[in-house]
Amino acid sequence: MSALRLILADQLSHAISSLEGINAEEDVVMLCELIEEARYVKHHKKKIAFLFSAMRHFAEELESNGYAVRYIKLDNLLNTGNFDDEIKRAIAEIKPTRLIVTEPGEYRILQKMKEWPNSFGIPVDILNDTRFLTTHAEFALWAQGKMQLRMEFFYREVRKKYRILLDSDNKPIGGKWNYDKENRKPLKSGLKIPKRISHKQSSIIKEVLKLVEEKFPDHFGILKPFHYAVTRDQALIELNHFIDELLPDFGSYQDAMVAGEPYLYHSLISSYLNAGLLLPLEICKAAEAAYRAGKAPLNSVEGFIRQILGWREYIRGIYWLYMPEYGEKNDLAATAPLPDFYWGKKTDMFCVAETVRHTRDHAYSHHIQRLMITGNFALLTGINVKEVQEWYLAVYSDAYEWVEMPNTLGMALFGDGGIVASKPYAASGKYIRRMSDYCDHCRYDPNVMTGDNACPFNALYWDFLVRHEKKFRGNQRMPYIFSTWDRFGTEKQQAIRNQASVTLQKMKEDVL
Ligand SMILES: Cc1cc2nc3c(=O)[nH]c(=O)nc-3n(C[C@H](O)[C@H](O)[C@H](O)COP(=O)(O)OP(=O)(O)OC[C@H]3O[C@@H](n4cnc5c(N)ncnc54)[C@H](O)[C@@H]3O)c2cc1C
Ligand code: SF4
Repeated sequence: MSALRLILADQLSHAISSLEGINAEEDVVMLCELIEEARYVKHHKKKIAFLFSAMRHFAEELESNGYAVRYIKLDNLLNTGNFDDEIKRAIAEIKPTRLIVTEPGEYRILQKMKEWPNSFGIPVDILNDTRFLTTHAEFALWAQGKMQLRMEFFYREVRKKYRILLDSDNKPIGGKWNYDKENRKPLKSGLKIPKRISHKQSSIIKEVLKLVEEKFPDHFGILKPFHYAVTRDQALIELNHFIDELLPDFGSYQDAMVAGEPYLYHSLISSYLNAGLLLPLEICKAAEAAYRAGKAPLNSVEGFIRQILGWREYIRGIYWLYMPEYGEKNDLAATAPLPDFYWGKKTDMFCVAETVRHTRDHAYSHHIQRLMITGNFALLTGINVKEVQEWYLAVYSDAYEWVEMPNTLGMALFGDGGIVASKPYAASGKYIRRMSDYCDHCRYDPNVMTGDNACPFNALYWDFLVRHEKKFRGNQRMPYIFSTWDRFGTEKQQAIRNQASVTLQKMKEDVL
């Protein structure tokens, strides 16, 4: 009665459901590095290096726990490079009586898995992914009959379920569910941002870096220096460092952007959390404990917990509730090609260049850079939603379709017609100037609307709103915006629209 237990690259948790009840005498755990998965979008070199290194370390841990592991490296000459053939090969050699796997994070793979009993001729158990705090059924039940699926209300339910930051009467600690009003500050000058941890490179990492250099030279991103944690122990060190050193200021400066500072007070845990090295509840509990011990203020702790217990679970819920139709949405009919400066070609827009630079160097940029710089620019200029999604999926080390798609299509591009966001996250240069020091380094001027030195975001912002006026004029969350536009008068309006069309033309020619 031996079972083949398949672990996917983002399921590197000893608590994963596919390992539950494992029989060390008979079962075999299988992990494989697949060229088809590494190339179906051209993932950032650091993302591939992170995942292969973490997979190899995880396999070593399983072996040292006494389990039989079938690990197929990318450069194994027999490696066929895709799931179906690798599983067939394993079944032919091991002759298991069943295949056990935890559900994947991608609709495309789930469809494949559903075919596996037919393809392989043995039963296939597809188990729930218990690493999340809510199930698909719970989300569907919460969503049922609601006109709008607002994260804030879902978040409150999950907080109640896990009794996080509640007092003895089940009321939110401090009296409010959300302390965002105290957050969203630009960075104070003179604040010293704590240094990040650098992990020692194991022989596994060194071998993987060499492999990635050789096999993926045409993929985006800089591979070295490689600073990622690749084991659970290292990921826990990262988490503890964040909780002790950075969490106290996380809330206040969550939305700030500073030139040359890719990380600020962000946790950098998404890659570890999404790959299974950390679990969401332990992270939320660690943050709550810091608050209860008086080590971090409530605005920071609540804000941080909301990201994980609220946003992350909600985003996953949306993905599984609406797929596969969700992936085909393009509500604003955005079709312009993605400019080459998303891949690092020169642009004079400092904010965009800086965000792309962070992305290229670290396979990371923080939420506001993703949303209000590269996302906002793509929204305002109507860049093809599929191309934008592919970019986000490829370039970030934490990107998997379940989390990338609703964030990109829904939150950043308003392409789902308002399922995720109640209004588009569109902003002019004014917002970027308020939240960052980027404009100080830019040849464009955020205070200027038209002319050669005008910040491109300014005219594009108004042009976007006017292009989609029918959709947005009646939006209750945008009451003053169109009245401001109306007050501009015809001449100014025309000048703005002319400026926008010149800018869009420059974008097409990649000379912005
Ligand atoms: C266009 C766009 C694309 C994105 N793509 C991804 C993606 O592919 N993978 C991904 O994990 N996150 C994605 N996000 C959400 C968010 O930007 C990242 O989770 C965050 O930047 C990761 O950095 P951090 O760990 O330092 O996060 P922190 O700022 O420290 O936040 C803490 C944690 O909260 C969670 N979180 C916060 N916001 C979100 C959110 N909107 N959705 C899901 N989880 C959230 C993450 O697990 C994160 O690690 C995207 C956001 C946008 C706007
Ligand atoms: S001036 Fe405009 S383009 Fe330049 S950094 Fe500021 S917002 Fe970005």
